[in-house]
Amino acid sequence: MASETKQISMAASAIALRGVRLFLSASRAAAARRPAPPPVAKPPRKKPVLPANKLPQKTLEQLLKTSKFNKNELEALYTMYRKLVAAAQAAAPAPVIGQPPLKIEGIDQNTFRDVMHNTFDLVTEETIVDRVWTTWERGAAGGEGALKFDSWVKGLSVLLRGTEDERRNHCFAVYDLNADGYITRDEMFLLLKNSLLKQPGDEDPDEGVRDLVELVLRKLDVDKDGKVSPEDYKAAVEQEPLLLEAFGQCLPSRRHATAFLKTLSTKQ
Ligand code: CA
Repeated sequence: MASETKQISMAASAIALRGVRLFLSASRAAAARRPAPPPVAKPPRKKPVLPANKLPQKTLEQLLKTSKFNKNELEALYTMYRKLVAAAQAAAPAPVIGQPPLKIEGIDQNTFRDVMHNTFDLVTEETIVDRVWTTWERGAAGGEGALKFDSWVKGLSVLLRGTEDERRNHCFAVYDLNADGYITRDEMFLLLKNSLLKQPGDEDPDEGVRDLVELVLRKLDVDKDGKVSPEDYKAAVEQEPLLLEAFGQCLPSRRHATAFLKTLSTKQ
């Protein structure tokens, strides 16, 4: 019977996907066990330039329209942003003598990584967090190694209150390593290899990764042209929601998102 066949193939898919998730979570656990690098002594430095004390009215009005945060939340996010910029500046390398002090007017990549790990518990592969960083930081004001307030807010708006489309586009952009609009076999290989390589004892880890790529590609490549377009991805994820984060966690859990939103509405 057709429905029976469908049920069997769905069960097989679920098992295969569970395999992917297990691989990923095992490597996450391995990553978590790695000892932290020893702290580096920081030399004292001059007071750096911080963003304005108060969220500028113009920025506020613009972000009320373009993000899903209200006024109080945007003000709380701004306070947090200032603290993160201060942290980024404090951790910046000491300026070369005779050169003007290095100014980071935004959140730097290391600070961003810490927030993603600590606040949203995105204990995922470094590559994924770095890809999230790149996709947020790119754009009009991007490419300077610093995440500006509006990019920060727009990114968080998608992570915490994004529509299904926004969340899916976010994950797609993270996985589309060269930003050409397709997730290819090569990209899948890199993304999956990254999480599998940390498994000790594998004789030929690449072979396992290649098998996994073919398996996941079969699910995602709906039009069967050998690469995954946003349309393929949408159709596949609507069919099987677990595929949304098939190549690594890009979104915080609902629990962490709720907890974070709660801190925003609590007066600090
Ligand atoms: Ca691509």
